[in-house]
Amino acid sequence: MLKRLIQFSCLSAVIASSAIIALPVQAADEVNLYSYRQPFLIQPLMTKFTEQTGIKVNVVFAKKGMLEKIQAAGSNNPADAVLTVDIGRLYALKQAGVFDAVKSDVLEANVPANLRDPGGLWFGLTQRARIAMVSKERVKESELTTYEELADPKFKGRICIRSGKNAYNVALIASMIAHKGESETKTWLEGLKANLARKPQGNDRAQAKAVYEGVCDIAIANTYYLGAMATNDKKPEQKKWADAVRITFLNQADRGAHVNVSGAGVLKNAKNRDAAVKLVEWLSGKEAQAIYAEVNHEYPVHKDVQPSALVASWGDLKADNLGMEDIARLREAATKLVDEVKFNEGPTS
Ligand code: FE
Repeated sequence: MLKRLIQFSCLSAVIASSAIIALPVQAADEVNLYSYRQPFLIQPLMTKFTEQTGIKVNVVFAKKGMLEKIQAAGSNNPADAVLTVDIGRLYALKQAGVFDAVKSDVLEANVPANLRDPGGLWFGLTQRARIAMVSKERVKESELTTYEELADPKFKGRICIRSGKNAYNVALIASMIAHKGESETKTWLEGLKANLARKPQGNDRAQAKAVYEGVCDIAIANTYYLGAMATNDKKPEQKKWADAVRITFLNQADRGAHVNVSGAGVLKNAKNRDAAVKLVEWLSGKEAQAIYAEVNHEYPVHKDVQPSALVASWGDLKADNLGMEDIARLREAATKLVDEVKFNEGPTS
């Protein structure tokens, strides 16, 4: 009798728990997200999304090895979607076969075709231009207008840049290959290397710092870092670095400035696929795009959303509309050129 009772209560417990799990509202209730993007940016977005949709977002902030983690988990992968920066990372995830194709009218309307995967495997959510931050005092407006000019001997010893192997630089070099071909890009890269003030080192902000310190006159960096430095109350010394430079958008008279993206993709085997698609769609919408613009000083991908007032104060950006996929495919060739010209050894004489 006691045994039967125990069996029954076990059974009813099973029924009860499966009944809870089977409720549709519960199933669509949450989404698990891997994010390479930082909490200060992601948290306000997710709070708004949950407020509006009732869908809870569980975020794991990944630093390194996210791809390996997803691949190792296979069909047991607990994440539904990934948020990350740089076309190189998005493309690596695509090539690894972990993304699931999403067909969405919302995403197709909100994200321009050159900023998303043609097969719906990933979607760009913000844009950032890789441009020159030049010394306000030592570089005249007309002195530098194109990426090509960075190789001009007139800038000998005046340029600072981080490692040529950094993903942002690899994408920039890949865009040069797309427009100019490999051999012209190699010559350009040799010229740029010869113009460096020092060996490539540090991050993007360190280049602006070097301009402030007089080490060089031109820093190559992503636009949003100027916003981050200019508003950095925790490290106010960075405001001085920001104040020393002026943004120069390059190639505004022809192809436009090189841009890169941050973006998202829905994972294969996502257990909360509908909620994951909803989240990515929401991130491409007007409200989320305005938050991205305001919090991280990036350029919206949505055509009806304006950059923040601070970003707008740098002037109008004409962006190169080269397909991100074209850039991704040329990343390997770009990396090879960096090695061939021994870019990271810096100026030789
Ligand atoms: Fe960055």
